[in-house]
Amino acid sequence: MVSTMRGAPTRRGRKQTITPATLMLVVFGFLALTFIVLMPAQAEARVLDGAGTASLENSPVEPVEPTAPSSGGQGDVSSSATSTGGGLGVPGLPVISSVVCLRQCVSSSRPTRGAIIAIRGKNLDRVTRVIFRSKSGRIATRLRTRSVGAVRVTVPKRTVRGYLSVVDSGGNRARSPREISIFPISAIPIQVFPVRGPISFGSSGSRFGAGRPGHIHQGQDVSASCGTTLVSIRKARVVYNQWDDGGGNYLVLRNIGTNTNFVYMHMLRRSPLKVGQVVGAGARIGRVGNTGRSYGCHLHFEYWIGPWQTGGKPIDPLPFLRSLLK
Ligand SMILES: [Zn+2]
Repeated sequence: MVSTMRGAPTRRGRKQTITPATLMLVVFGFLALTFIVLMPAQAEARVLDGAGTASLENSPVEPVEPTAPSSGGQGDVSSSATSTGGGLGVPGLPVISSVVCLRQCVSSSRPTRGAIIAIRGKNLDRVTRVIFRSKSGRIATRLRTRSVGAVRVTVPKRTVRGYLSVVDSGGNRARSPREISIFPISAIPIQVFPVRGPISFGSSGSRFGAGRPGHIHQGQDVSASCGTTLVSIRKARVVYNQWDDGGGNYLVLRNIGTNTNFVYMHMLRRSPLKVGQVVGAGARIGRVGNTGRSYGCHLHFEYWIGPWQTGGKPIDPLPFLRSLLK
């Protein structure tokens, strides 16, 4: 786009003396500009046609800067202008880069019928519906929310395994990079490990009961890279979501149907969850951080029988955490 800005003033300056030569220059300049503007949309269309799987996940967000066309490029310019409707400022075609399950999920890549999924990619702000596969054909679904980078939708009840596609208000269509498998609700695990990434339980100093200045360690430290996703272990209600000089950004979850509470400390940022909100097993609750009195990126995790800090008591969470990894 920078080249467009540079080109415009020059063209206007020369327009004042109109000779056949300058007219040619202006026409050619306009065609060149059209080509430059349309190139990103074409590049995306090619990615879509290829329907590559793994490569799409890692494809750069920004389109590759197009190079100026050579003198032989005029034929291409006119053909691309007619195929996309012509004119400058044509909105880009939609592209799906990934599909992530947000709620009622077996895992982030395994939705159930009725799950809420996020479809991420480019140029999704004009998408009006999502098409799923069913045994009797296709199901068009309206969106829950929409933004430039993602649309959210509920997986219809009759959905079966297959590609999904988005359709925008101009009738442009994009297909998911891979088939989406649909799982039964009974496949949703009751409890999952809280850290989505490589972890270490560290040495004796990370354990429950280890000595700390002025107190003993009431939890288990789980080392992981800062930014690693943290999830709710079970279906739980948010009890506290706040800051503490020691614990940093911390979250307390009361597990539904039990008298237990789980505590997550030193999170990178304040959790986006609201107090009182209920989250399912595996729901994203924040990211591993190093906030508060913390020396290195890790999750400080506590397991309480009864209310946290107000009558309950903490137990050693390590055997439980290990059991979640089996
Ligand atoms: Zn700790």
